[in-house]
Amino acid sequence: MTLNRKITLLLIAVALGILLTLLVISLYAFRAFSLASSTAHVQTAAEIVRVHLTEAMINGVIDKREQFLNRLVEIHNLRDARVVRSALVNQQFGEGLSRESAADAIEAAVLVDGVARYEFSEWNGEPRFRGTLPYIATARGQPNCLQCHQVLEGSVLGAVTIELSLAELRRRALTAIILSIATIGIITLIAILGARRLILPVGHTAAALDGLVKRALQGDFKGRVEQRTNDDIGAIASHTNRLLSFLDEGLSRIGARVTELTGRPPHRDNNQLQATLEMVDGLADAARFKSTIEEDETKTEIYDRFGRLLETRFAVRHSSVYETDGPKRLAAIAVDGKIGADCRWCDPQILVRSETCRAKRSGHPVDGLRQPGICYAFRPGTDSHPARNEETAGPGATDEHDRARAHPDRHYCIPIIQSGMVGSVVQLITTAEEAPKLLEQVPYIQVYVREMAPVLEAKRLTETLRESALRDAMTGLHNRRFLEEYVDSLIATARRRNTKLALLMLDLDYFKMVNDTYGHDVGDTVLKALAELLKQSLRASDLLIRFGGEEFLIILQESSEEGAMTVAEKIRESIAEFKFSIPGGGNLQKTISVGVAMFPEDSETFWQTLKYADVALYRAKSDGRNRVVRFAPEMWSAEDGIY
Ligand code: GH3
Ligand code: MG
Ligand code: MG
Repeated sequence: MTLNRKITLLLIAVALGILLTLLVISLYAFRAFSLASSTAHVQTAAEIVRVHLTEAMINGVIDKREQFLNRLVEIHNLRDARVVRSALVNQQFGEGLSRESAADAIEAAVLVDGVARYEFSEWNGEPRFRGTLPYIATARGQPNCLQCHQVLEGSVLGAVTIELSLAELRRRALTAIILSIATIGIITLIAILGARRLILPVGHTAAALDGLVKRALQGDFKGRVEQRTNDDIGAIASHTNRLLSFLDEGLSRIGARVTELTGRPPHRDNNQLQATLEMVDGLADAARFKSTIEEDETKTEIYDRFGRLLETRFAVRHSSVYETDGPKRLAAIAVDGKIGADCRWCDPQILVRSETCRAKRSGHPVDGLRQPGICYAFRPGTDSHPARNEETAGPGATDEHDRARAHPDRHYCIPIIQSGMVGSVVQLITTAEEAPKLLEQVPYIQVYVREMAPVLEAKRLTETLRESALRDAMTGLHNRRFLEEYVDSLIATARRRNTKLALLMLDLDYFKMVNDTYGHDVGDTVLKALAELLKQSLRASDLLIRFGGEEFLIILQESSEEGAMTVAEKIRESIAEFKFSIPGGGNLQKTISVGVAMFPEDSETFWQTLKYADVALYRAKSDGRNRVVRFAPEMWSAEDGIY
C-alpha cells in the first residue's frame, strides 16, 4: 500500500472516529438535558397543580378541579395531568372521582412510599416524559396541610402524574446534532482533501525516489524525480536530481576515459558502476603489473609472469608468446605458460617464415574468436597436454574439467609493437564455448600487453646492447669478453655434471699472406666464411669464440679426449678441403693448426687449461702447421720460457 493511500485512510479513520464520538456525546448530552429539563417542567407543573388544588379547597371550588386539569393539558406539549388521592384522603373526604384512584402501578407505588418517579416512554411513536410526584402532608407550609387533612405529618395525600411530549425537543436536538455533525464532517472532509494535497507530493516523491534508488543499484543513474512543490520535498527531489546528474556524468567521464585506455566501452547491459569499478581495477592492476615487470631482470621473467597472469586472472589456460628472431623468423618463447616449450598452437612454418603469422604480417590483432579460421597458421587441437597448473592437479579430473579441455579451437592474437615493428605476438587460445567470455576479457588483456610493450622493448634493447658487447661484430661469434662472463657457469655446470670440457685453440696458418696478397677485405671474407664453416661443424651445446684476430676457441661440453681429437681433426680436414671464394673470382685454400687441452684433466684451473691449449697450438705450428696437437705436460716445461 502506498504512503498516500495509508495517510488518506488514516485521516478518514480519524475523521469517522471524531464524528462518531461527537454523535455519541451529543446523544448523551441530549438525553441528560431532556431528563433535567423535563424533570424541572414536570416538577413545576406538579407544584402549579398542588397550589391550584389547595387554593380551590380553601375557596371551596374543589369540585371544579377536573376542568382545571382538562384546561391544563391544553398547554402545548403537556399531554396528561392527572391527580390521584390517597386512601387517607378518601377516608376523610369520601371517595373522589373514578379517575382519582391509582391508574397504574407507578402511581400506586408513589402513593405507598411517597417517592417521585420519572420515566421516558414512547406513545404512538411520540417520545414522552412522565413524572409521578407525591403530595406529602406537612405542617410547615403555608397554608398548613394538617389544618384540613387529619393525617400525620409526612403522610402521602395523593400524587400527580404529568406527561410531557418530547417530540419537538427531540426534533430540535436532532436537527442541532445533524447540523453540527454535518458542519464538522464538511470541515473534516476539507481538512482531509487539504492534507492529501499536502501529502500527495511526499508520496509521489517517495515512490519516485524508491524507483530511482533501485535503478541506481543496477548502475543506471539516468532517472530523475519530478519536482512537484517548492517546499522541503521539492528540495529533496531537486537535490536528488543534481546528485544523480553528478554521478551519471562522473561515471560516464570515467567510463569514457577507461574506454580510451581499454579500447572498448563497458557492456551496455552491465551495471554501469560495477563495470566502471571493474575497469578501473583492471587498469590499476595493469599499472601495478607494469611496475613489477620493470624490475624483472630478463624478458623471460616478464613472459613467465605474463603467462601466470593470463592463467590466474583471465583463466586463459592456453597461450603462446612468439618473438621476432631475425628478419623472417619467429621464436616460440612461452607456450601454455611454459618458457622454452615447443610451438604447439601454430604451424611451425611461422618460425622460419614469420609472414605466415597473420598478426606478425599485419601488425593488427587477429580475432579468431569471432572469425574462426581467419589465420591459416593456427592449429586447433584437442587439449591433451596439461597446462602449467594442471601438473599438480592430480588424477581427480572432473567432467567439467574434461569439457573445458575439449577442442581449444578459437584463438586471439595480439601483436606487440616495438620500435614501430611487431616485436612479439601474444596468442590466446580457448574453446568455442569459452570464446565469448574471452572476447570480453581481451580489452583488459590488451591493456596489460600495452603496458608490457615498452618494458619488453627496453629489456630487448638492454639485452641487444649487452649481447653486442659480448659478440664480435664481423663474424657474429661470441668474443673473449663473453668467455670471461660465461666461464664461471660453464665450469660450475661441468663440475655439477662431472663432465670434461675440451678446449680447442685454432689459428689459421699463414694468414698474414692472405692479407698481403689479396688485401684486408679478402682476409675478412675468409674469416667470415671460416666462422660459418666452424659453426656448422659444431653441436648446439658447443661454444665457438673468436679469441683473437684469426684465432678461434672451441669449447666442447661433455667431451672425452678422443672425441675432442676426432672433432678437431674433422675441423682441420674440412678447412683444408674448403675452397674460400675470393670476391672478383677465384678461390683459395687455407689450413689451420689446432691445440687441444682438457679441463679439468690437464689443469684444475680453466685459464691454465686454456694456456695449455695455446701451448699445444704453438707446438702444432712449430711442427709444420695444418695439424692437431694434444697438449702434453712436457710441452709446458719445454715451452715455459715463451710464456
Ligand atoms: P702463422 O699463424 O701460421 O704463424 O702465420 P700468420 O701469418 O697467420 O701469423 P699470425 O697469426 O701472427 O698473423 C695474424 C695476422 O692476421 C695478422 C693480421 O694482419 C691478420 N689479422 C688479424 N685479424 C684480422 C682481421 O680481422 N682481418 C684481416 N683481414 N686480417 C686480420
Ligand atoms: Mg695465423
Ligand atoms: Mg694468429
